[in-house]
Amino acid sequence: MDALDLLEQQHRDVCALLSRLVEASPVGAGSDEAFYAALRAVEAHVRVEEAYVYIACASRLGDDASVREAREEHTRILDAARVALAMSRTAPQFAAVIAALRERFEKHADVEEDVVFPKLKRSLTDEELDVLGEEIERSYNRLLAGADETRTSKTRPSEDASRAEPHMRRGVRRPAPRGAI
Ligand SMILES: [Zn+2]
Repeated sequence: MDALDLLEQQHRDVCALLSRLVEASPVGAGSDEAFYAALRAVEAHVRVEEAYVYIACASRLGDDASVREAREEHTRILDAARVALAMSRTAPQFAAVIAALRERFEKHADVEEDVVFPKLKRSLTDEELDVLGEEIERSYNRLLAGADETRTSKTRPSEDASRAEPHMRRGVRRPAPRGAI
């Protein structure tokens, strides 16, 4: 699958998962599964983009302000996801935190689809985009599965995390259960 089509699909999927949390009444109501699935998808998406778009294609993207801004936004999104994870879903500020995360993610999707992806489209061939798409899909699925493993093995980093740049190793993790430490 074309890498850019795949990433745009992930944008839509993640926005839908976050919207479900924001629009629930009260905000965040629903199963733990839905909550953690949304946050795992946010992290997996940002990490595959870092690895396969912003690092692997750095020379094609160049180093302009829009690319730098998009990468800084990745950090802010991961930070917002960590804040949401660390909170109780019944905390008074939870609704505002999760709404802000969705807003950030939507802005992120708009900037990439309007500015970053067109640059990639111009600088990669259709074949290259297909190969990149396969790699992104495999890695995204591994990260989602790897995040699941952290429920039973908190310390083992995922395969992708160990290969990633140092600043990417700080993944979104479920907080340790109360009393586990
Ligand atoms: Zn994205």
